[in-house]
Amino acid sequence: MILEPVKFIADAMLGRLARWLRILGYDVVYESVISDDDLIARALKESRVILTMDRNLVERKSAKNSFFIESSDYKEQLRQVIIRYNIDYKSKIFTRCILCNEQIDTIEKERIKNILPQYVYMNHDKFYNCRRCSRIYWPGTHRIKIISKLNEILKDVNR
Ligand SMILES: [Zn+2]
Repeated sequence: MILEPVKFIADAMLGRLARWLRILGYDVVYESVISDDDLIARALKESRVILTMDRNLVERKSAKNSFFIESSDYKEQLRQVIIRYNIDYKSKIFTRCILCNEQIDTIEKERIKNILPQYVYMNHDKFYNCRRCSRIYWPGTHRIKIISKLNEILKDVNR
């Protein structure tokens, strides 16, 4: 049996956490303005775990599949979610658009030659683009920074 990876919906306070989970390849709905009712309805409809800093929301009966985030520090939040949901932070990292939550696909370098900065075109061979917003991603120095930040966040998580 193949288990579907857990999907999330994050409340308006948790934008940074949502972005980080997307970086790790997880499907996270995030809207900066959404009512509690809409958030719960969407979570139920799409089988998503609600991530929230709102204790009242967690206590609502209809929000039973929810996880209360205590810390206001995104690093602690991320660590909490990774531990609680046994998040695989290695195999799907950098497979999703952090802006719109879509998966990204490889794209041939020559097809985007005209829109890439020249030094990027010259120095990289692997490119990906988002199915929805067409944003282009490539393995560059920002990824190295992300991985080192991730290692810092996870340094005392024993796996
Ligand atoms: Zn996108």
